[in-house]
Amino acid sequence: MKQLSFKNISHSYADMPSVKDISFTIQAGEVVSLLGPSGCGKSTMLRLAAGLERPQKGKIIQDDTVISSPDFALDPSLRGVGLVFQNYALFPHLTVLENVCYGLKGKKKDNVALAEEVMADFDILPLAENYPSELSGGQQQRVALARAVCPAPDLVLLDEPFSGLDTRLRERIRDRLLHVLREKNIAALMVTHDAEEAMFMSDKIVVLEKGQVAQIGTPLEVYRSPQSSFVATFFGEANQFSSAVSQGVITSVLGPIDASQFADGTKVEVVIRNENLTVYDTKHDHCSPTPFTIMETHLLGSNTLVHLSDKKDDSGHHFHAKIPGLNFFEVGATVYLSAAQSDIFLFESSNG
Ligand code: ADP
Ligand code: MG
Repeated sequence: MKQLSFKNISHSYADMPSVKDISFTIQAGEVVSLLGPSGCGKSTMLRLAAGLERPQKGKIIQDDTVISSPDFALDPSLRGVGLVFQNYALFPHLTVLENVCYGLKGKKKDNVALAEEVMADFDILPLAENYPSELSGGQQQRVALARAVCPAPDLVLLDEPFSGLDTRLRERIRDRLLHVLREKNIAALMVTHDAEEAMFMSDKIVVLEKGQVAQIGTPLEVYRSPQSSFVATFFGEANQFSSAVSQGVITSVLGPIDASQFADGTKVEVVIRNENLTVYDTKHDHCSPTPFTIMETHLLGSNTLVHLSDKKDDSGHHFHAKIPGLNFFEVGATVYLSAAQSDIFLFESSNG
């Protein structure tokens, strides 16, 4: 497979549209994520990619061959893809080792060696002789991953493949999976609702909002240059307010914000991620003219969430800042805020 292209794909369940006019391409060896909140159509796209559903409009083209269209879908078993779906169906009557060896075509001895290597990558080698019913959900999920990648298919389809794993294990397994995908040159289409996971794994992220593409780009592009407040806020908690542009400037409690790309009177949504707000205990030139009061602090481990207000009580403008490391600000202290212009995202308000 050189590439797999989704062209203007639309699909409905009965009369309920699930995905609308979605187009994107996966190149050989590339990891592409479908990212979005629950119900936005991610799993539907994966089922369409697998051939388990047919689109009502559009086509899926592998190299030069149409493999899905409204009146045709190539059988899933003939597509040469590895599947890991939310209900990771392992073969219950086969051991873990037999499950992982299932799609392999070589000599038995070679197959076992190959399977054992991949099982070691996913920390399931000690479970080789167990049956699926003897495993936890997270262990079954790792067996399903090993089974999907072991035959080195051109493409694997992964639906929330780490959902059953706790945080620490999840980080380890996704790291190992990425190595295996690169090593065997396997392309992946992965569904996730976790922005950090999508950024870690992907060459390209397709952000979905209510069944439609909100933005497609590299992790850097979607994180640094979001095209809507939906995309901007999906990659982390953010401060938001709206304001009208006057002579190319938005006047805010954080100071004037350059908005010269908008016409006078345009209502604009301002989005500043928590991590892009810097807190100073003394006033610098680039700081807010208004002093802020520390209302609360919450230690989150590697960083601290600070709640701020421009009034001494809760009546003022409320902001959240995420600062690295331990917090050394005291509740009630007076501070000043600053955000770089490039970290302030401005979007024309959709409701005018
Ligand atoms: P996601 O994976 O992003 O959570 P899905 O693709 O599962 O979203 O679902 C998209 C939309 O289609 C949702 O509104 C969901 O309720 C609906 N849907 C999903 N599967 C079915 C189905 N089998 N029958 C009817 N509606 C469905
Ligand atoms: Mg889903």
